Amino acid sequence: RVAAMKAAPVEPGELADGTPVQILANIGKPADAERAAALGAEGVGLFRTEFLFLDSDTAPTVEKQTADYTAALAHFPGKKVVVRVLDAGADKPLAFLTEADEPNPALGLRGIRVLMKKEQILRDQLQALANAQAATEAKVWVMAPMVSDAHESEHFTSLAREYGLMTAGSMIEVPSAALLAEQILETSDFVSVGTNDLTQYTLAADRLLGSVAAFQDPWHPAVLRLIERIGDAGEHHQKNVGVCGEAAADPNLAIVLVGLGVRSLSMAPPAFVEVRAALKRVTLEQAKEIAHLAIFAKSAEGAKGRVVDALATRG
Ligand code: PEP
Ligand code: MG
Repeated sequence: RVAAMKAAPVEPGELADGTPVQILANIGKPADAERAAALGAEGVGLFRTEFLFLDSDTAPTVEKQTADYTAALAHFPGKKVVVRVLDAGADKPLAFLTEADEPNPALGLRGIRVLMKKEQILRDQLQALANAQAATEAKVWVMAPMVSDAHESEHFTSLAREYGLMTAGSMIEVPSAALLAEQILETSDFVSVGTNDLTQYTLAADRLLGSVAAFQDPWHPAVLRLIERIGDAGEHHQKNVGVCGEAAADPNLAIVLVGLGVRSLSMAPPAFVEVRAALKRVTLEQAKEIAHLAIFAKSAEGAKGRVVDALATRG
């Protein structure tokens, strides 16, 4: 087994009434895992594995992947590490997976769609993750990107189980998946909301295009309505609903997300301190009231204003 680095003591995230909300890290490489552990992450909520292979012309071997994943997992003994399988396409093209001639890559053969077509690449990654799990004491949660329905989540979960990876989840970042959260949770052990893509697809605004950047705002009540639906499905199934998009790092929005049923937030580690402090100021009842104000706003700006006012009135 690989020895763990010395990490800072972890202060678990919680609301004023003691409701636990896990504060997790977004990472892209083993060095990020080390930093995240040192800053007190309770685990990893999103390991963007495709970041390791952005410059590779060919698919990485099982051996190379096993080494990379083991190096990252070793920093989180006994902790949850959510590893996203390769999310190739659009803003993150991989030469060995992405079709070069797509007219509209954000709507193309990407994420789990391409992995289902090139299944051996997915199988190799699951094998490497199983190896890394065996070599460390981390708890590996595997997660599929860009899932659009329960057929895909079911297929992914059964493949993961074949490799002994017993906690398999789906990202919810496509509106169809948000609408079908009930079915997706029947075939997944957990879900994590990718608010970056969920916002892009809900508002029909390319997340890379500056001229429509104003639409790329996860405070938009349409996005929050979808998250409410996912939160309700998580409560019904008693399964974890997390958020791993940029929204989780916004302290006021974090309160809204928890009010909508989200119970883990994954972010870049510099945001830990402020998000933890914000959550500590409200009870679950108050977070629900604040979320209710936000979902009835007319716009993203309106939602933000309502929440700022409500928090100020409370003092
Ligand atoms: C997201 O879409 O919110 C997400 C977390 O994934 P990425 O930003 O890597 O697409
Ligand atoms: Mg995404």
